[in-house]
Amino acid sequence: MTVRTWGLYIEGDYHPAVSGRTFPVENPKDGSVIAEVAEGAAEDIEIAIKAAERAFSVWSALTGAERGDIMNRATEILKRRLPELVTIEIDQIGRSRREMAAQLSRLPEWFSYFGAVARTHEDTVPPFAGHYLNYTRRVPLGVVGHVTPWNHPLLILTKKVAPSLAAGNTMVVKPSELAPITPLILGEVLKEAGVPDGVYNVVPGFGATAGLALSSHPRIRKIDLTGGTETGKAVASIAGKNLVKVAAELGGKAAVIVFPDTDTKRAVAATLFASFIATGQTCVQGARLIVHRSIHDEVVAQLVERTGRLRLGDPQLETTQVGPMVSKKQRDMVESYVRIGIDEGATLAYGGCRPEGESFASGYYLLPTIFTDVKPDMRIAQEEIFGPVVCVIPFDTEEEAIAIANGTEFGLATSIWTRDVARAHRVAHQLESGITWINDHHRIDPASPWGGFKMSGIGRENGLVAYEEYTQIQNIIVNLSDAVFDWYEDDNQIKRYS
Ligand code: NDP
Repeated sequence: MTVRTWGLYIEGDYHPAVSGRTFPVENPKDGSVIAEVAEGAAEDIEIAIKAAERAFSVWSALTGAERGDIMNRATEILKRRLPELVTIEIDQIGRSRREMAAQLSRLPEWFSYFGAVARTHEDTVPPFAGHYLNYTRRVPLGVVGHVTPWNHPLLILTKKVAPSLAAGNTMVVKPSELAPITPLILGEVLKEAGVPDGVYNVVPGFGATAGLALSSHPRIRKIDLTGGTETGKAVASIAGKNLVKVAAELGGKAAVIVFPDTDTKRAVAATLFASFIATGQTCVQGARLIVHRSIHDEVVAQLVERTGRLRLGDPQLETTQVGPMVSKKQRDMVESYVRIGIDEGATLAYGGCRPEGESFASGYYLLPTIFTDVKPDMRIAQEEIFGPVVCVIPFDTEEEAIAIANGTEFGLATSIWTRDVARAHRVAHQLESGITWINDHHRIDPASPWGGFKMSGIGRENGLVAYEEYTQIQNIIVNLSDAVFDWYEDDNQIKRYS
């Protein structure tokens, strides 16, 4: 079977890389090659940035209402193209059809929300001593760079693209080399909606070449990265040298805290969803189940039983609940953590190995994995594994649960499960966690700020704050007096200096 070769998407069209090189994109369910994609590098990033610079004068000159109208059209076109995008996302990353169809069905909301923000955003008129009219304008930054991972290729990109467009910026995207196709197709959607050529450009390639060239480019005004914490540190330090704004959505080690007044069936359903959605490859994955000792054994027994019934299989099938991991590298990494957990003395209560059967032989499948007898300071309870592994840790007191939840370098997300409303808020207020759900997990909305404390990141996606972080404030101070102000005139007046 011949596979399509995709170009770089620059100035509204596909182009080969300057080097002429391409790289293969694999289907993780069987290792087959689904596409060849042009491999961008520094010279391609330069070409894309020049295109984005040319387009900036056009896009930034539109009114917010005009940009909002175009984004509304993008919302409708995206809805129309969703079935095709869902199928490609599944082939790129192996997540199940149920998950990708549900996730991508939300994407149009980002364009409609930020389109509405572009239309309705109000600036401020801060007080200013004296006879002055003082107002602020939110103006775009210029050309911005987006570096995105493979686990939610279109969702994460959309969270960056929609506020960037709304604010009037133009952009160059470096998607993960594992999942570059849907980010390319988003260019077609935006073009059809009326976004001028050059506003949205995509240069697939590798982090060490294309990603580095983009994030270290002196003429970008912001770099917005979602990825691992080490990548975030590397990118932020380079951007700091260029005084370029940084947003970084990084790793996590989310806790699911279950208090004893929670129905055990509900706690188990919560943990399955938190820990094994996306085959555990999500930044808010429920990596630690912190459960009250009085219900620990019952919850573990049910969790093991329900996990054993999850249906692994071909992610394109409606019936499949858990797909493969994204790559051999990712599965090798998770398997190495399984060995670390066993060596540290944790009990492997379920999984930890590959499923048996011919249909799994050439894909990157791994059974969902449950560790019990986990101590909070073990490596498996501290480090981001980024796979379908949950560490169960019992607690006795509320204070202990909070201390365990806060006891990692990360601070992205936590869920609290209790019917005691006072306790829920009291605990939430003590968590070092950018996102906290009460009696839920992994919920997101374009209007609701998303981002981490501590090593989980800098800045926020979603909401007005995301729009504002894609702008800079211009302050305009208008003297309402016609009187001549002459500082150097010897007229014995007391003069205002500042
Ligand atoms: P990586 O950090 O490996 O890569 C993220 C992106 O950065 C990729 O496009 C990668 O390129 C690129 N990159 C790598 N090195 C550099 C560099 N030196 N300069 C510029 N760009 C670079 O993360 P993964 O793709 O493996 O994604 C998983 C990580 O993302 C996890 O840690 C997860 O927690 C985090 N994440 C955070 C989220 C949040 O909202 N906080 C959401 C989702 C994921 P390439 O891969 O092509 O080499």
